[in-house]
Amino acid sequence: MTAIRALPATTSYAVGFGVSSVRTPPTNLRSRRVVNAQAEPSDKSVEIMRKFSEQYARRSDTYFCVDKSVTSVVIKGLADHKDSLGAPLCPCRHYDDKAAEATQGFWNCPCVPMRERKECHCMLFLTPDNDFAGNEQAISMEEIKELTANM
Ligand code: SF4
Repeated sequence: MTAIRALPATTSYAVGFGVSSVRTPPTNLRSRRVVNAQAEPSDKSVEIMRKFSEQYARRSDTYFCVDKSVTSVVIKGLADHKDSLGAPLCPCRHYDDKAAEATQGFWNCPCVPMRERKECHCMLFLTPDNDFAGNEQAISMEEIKELTANM
């Protein structure tokens, strides 16, 4: 049974995946379109955020989601913000003023909760004890394109 918990009102979705005894890919994360995957970021920014994600996962001893379409959508969301805002603002939240948030920096990836407590509510970086953590810290450009092709 999956427990649902509410995230702060400022978040754009209210789903917690941390409490589950079943390793089921969190398809509801994708179907809710918490990340705007419709915008097509530049290949250059996707590649920058892809490399960053691999390096930061290794550095923080975290892993990508067992369902790498989640990883792919978040990387593209970060790349989209890098293109539009000049900074990889977290794509899983609602902001009244994105430009101001990007300047402030708290939610630029890796955000402060991730840096301080290894908390990534986007499920890009998962600690090994997380039910949805896979065993990979690498993702290719081809995987990202393939896994987001129909979104
Ligand atoms: S580390 Fe923070 S900013 Fe980066 S994807 Fe996760 S929640 Fe968003």
